[in-house]
Amino acid sequence: MSRGKGQVAVITGASNGIGAASALALASEGFQVALGARSVDKLDEVAQAIAKETGVQPFVMTLDVRNEADVKHFVAAVVEKYGRIDVLVNNAGLAKGVSNVIDEADTTNWDQMIDTNVKGLLLMTRESVPHMIKGGNGHVINLGSIAGHQAYAGGAVYCATKFAVRAITDSLRQELLGLPIRVTTVDPGMVNTGFSLVRLGDQEQADQVYAGMTPLTAEDIADCVAFAATRPKHVNIDTIIVKPTDQAGAGKVARRL
Ligand code: NAP
Repeated sequence: MSRGKGQVAVITGASNGIGAASALALASEGFQVALGARSVDKLDEVAQAIAKETGVQPFVMTLDVRNEADVKHFVAAVVEKYGRIDVLVNNAGLAKGVSNVIDEADTTNWDQMIDTNVKGLLLMTRESVPHMIKGGNGHVINLGSIAGHQAYAGGAVYCATKFAVRAITDSLRQELLGLPIRVTTVDPGMVNTGFSLVRLGDQEQADQVYAGMTPLTAEDIADCVAFAATRPKHVNIDTIIVKPTDQAGAGKVARRL
């Protein structure tokens, strides 16, 4: 399909999981895609697979969304290559650890979650949206979570970052009212990606998270991203909350063990 023809989509955290799948879904819709993440080798692999499947040759550049200079450099390079940015998928993000607040010995994990999930998203948005305004077309799609709607023990900081994503999304939609720019959050429940391995640091424990239930896949979420991005320009999808059929909320999971 070619509903994205002539448009450029930037996807952060595109080296794995939901970001990689969203990049493929958008390229399949005819978007040019610019991929950023810290692991450039993995980005290259994702780009090759996208080129093979869709014929779209992605732009690839190393990007740490926590680093302001990196963000400026990345966005400037995309604009130099394509002359525009139409869609920003603020997907780069992570949870680190499952400690209760009073048990967390140092603040490294807190800093990483807050700097990536909140500050990184803000930096990417601030750098990209002026180019959308200039081009007369834009769409910011933020990856939130059901953790942005419902907090749980052991997830205070991750949940706080996703509540923040929801607040930023709502503020931004009001700030950009009157401009041809759409603002969406996609808020998933459990998705089987690299997320749990990054959070828990152990593959066996990560596999246990999905034991006896059927989680969402990265492609399920990429479908939601592509759906929001390909609606007619007068249609703003505010929020998509999407959970596995086996999940009714944070920690409420049907398992067949
Ligand atoms: P994933 O497979 O671990 O992918 C995360 C991506 O973020 C990777 O490409 C990683 O790439 C990138 N990333 C992490 N820190 C970064 C940084 N500082 N700068 C640039 N890129 C960075 O996890 P995922 O499930 O696809 O997660 C994507 C988003 O979905 C996150 O925002 C997450 O919070 C959200 N989400 C996930 C779930 C779930 O159950 N999986 C549920 C709700 C919401 P590098 O390591 O190469 O930088």
